[in-house]
Amino acid sequence: MKASVLFGAGWEDDSLEVLWQDAGRVFCSLRRDDAEGETHAFIPITSAAEHPTLESASRLTHEYELQRYLDSAWALRPLELVRERGQTILVVDYTGGEPLDRLVGQPMEIGAFLRIAAALSGAVGQLHGCGLIHKDLKPANVLVDAATGRVQLAGFGIASRLPRIFIAGDACHTHSPKAGQGMNVSMQDAFNLGWKLAAVLRGQCAPGLLHSYSAERQAVAKELIDFDREWAGILASAAKAGGADAARTQDYFVRHGRYTAGTATHYRPSPLTGATSHQHLAEGLVIGTRFHSAPVIRLADAKPVHLGHAAQADGRFRVYAFSPAEDPAAAGSAIRALCDFLAEARESPVRRHTPAGADIDSVIDLRAVFQQDHRALAVEAMPALLLPRKGRHGLIDYEKMFCPDLKSGQDVFTMRGIDRRAGCIVVVRPDQYVAQVLPLDAHAALAAYFDGFMLRAG
Ligand SMILES: Cc1cc2nc3c(=O)[nH]c(=O)nc-3n(C[C@H](O)[C@H](O)[C@H](O)COP(=O)(O)OP(=O)(O)OC[C@H]3O[C@@H](n4cnc5c(N)ncnc54)[C@H](O)[C@@H]3O)c2cc1C
Repeated sequence: MKASVLFGAGWEDDSLEVLWQDAGRVFCSLRRDDAEGETHAFIPITSAAEHPTLESASRLTHEYELQRYLDSAWALRPLELVRERGQTILVVDYTGGEPLDRLVGQPMEIGAFLRIAAALSGAVGQLHGCGLIHKDLKPANVLVDAATGRVQLAGFGIASRLPRIFIAGDACHTHSPKAGQGMNVSMQDAFNLGWKLAAVLRGQCAPGLLHSYSAERQAVAKELIDFDREWAGILASAAKAGGADAARTQDYFVRHGRYTAGTATHYRPSPLTGATSHQHLAEGLVIGTRFHSAPVIRLADAKPVHLGHAAQADGRFRVYAFSPAEDPAAAGSAIRALCDFLAEARESPVRRHTPAGADIDSVIDLRAVFQQDHRALAVEAMPALLLPRKGRHGLIDYEKMFCPDLKSGQDVFTMRGIDRRAGCIVVVRPDQYVAQVLPLDAHAALAAYFDGFMLRAG
């Protein structure tokens, strides 16, 4: 039929075939009379009473905004949102199939039924796996291709991304004041959640990252509640016995000192927290625990600083490259090879995940720690990535390189058990937990780590 029959004046040159219609919109095959080929699209219509056109149009807009989460293997994927001749048109990647509501209401062969049921479960599983909740799952929004057995979900107009509510602090792990570390745990909840929310809102990570908040912090909350129960029990039993058992109380308190101080949290391996295969390269920087700082000397100005203080709460990942005993400025040094990879390789996580025009260290902040005394090294000879030009005025950042504090005898390599012969890479998350320990030349593994949860910058 002529599109103008449905959409009015201005559409006389287009024909369309309505394939089906649901609340507030038609799904049609559109063909311009003077052009080859056809497109498939959802278009709001005024005739349906259930959803006014404006609401239908905003549902299509919302559906289009979810495009990057939807995969054609299990969803009718939006391709383009077009505003044309007064109509909002959502062009989709349609290659066949019809809504399930056309197939139900009549006997169905059991084999076909089971195939559809299994494919539908798979599609819903994929949907939830990428952090989406549909909120309008019904036969009309399930597209079945009888020829191929494929099931695609459609109608994402009110779908939302999971999870939608986060609880942190005492709201999710109330305990008696006796436990005495609620503040530490609460602040770390917020730190854990904060950088993840920022990464998702900045478009650096997909919303699925937010699932890791509960996965990591729920376990800590449970530990805190269990600890409080045990601790309160010890104090109560001492009181019942007519007086505190000072030795037992003291022993328990001392044994759990690190826990009470909030530094005993240990995240398990996950896409954010790597495996322990290379832990031996930095035995004192335990993967999954808080980065344990150490005093160092800043190379550029010989200032004694704490390495941990290089990491501000700014949502950036830190990559600490601990150098072997060689000259880091020499051609072919491990540090130079790492810098070359990060600065130039197509697979470099710095290049992949840093938006165009942003400072080179705005997402992943590389720092280097050398073994030599600071007087033995020349700042200006170091790789350019360790002397980046940044900000509006392109000023050089001289605060990327550190040496051990040999004068005071506090050698970070000894203190943190760094392998002096091989050196290593230590990746630290924005909430200051050690995420990875890798060999200095494990460039591909470093890239794979960031690829595991970060989106490529546009
Ligand atoms: C006696 C005592 C001793 C403690 N000692 C220690 C210690 O030594 N070490 C330690 O680490 N921790 C200690 N804690 C625990 C620590 O104080 C808490 O765990 C921590 O303050 C929890 O922080 P929070 O932000 O989650 O909650 P809170 O600090 O309770 O903040 C919640 C905020 O929300 C506000 N609020 C509530 N309802 C609403 C609403 N409807 N609308 C708007 N605002 C609302 C409240 O007024 C409050 O300001 C102790 C606690 C007590 C009570």
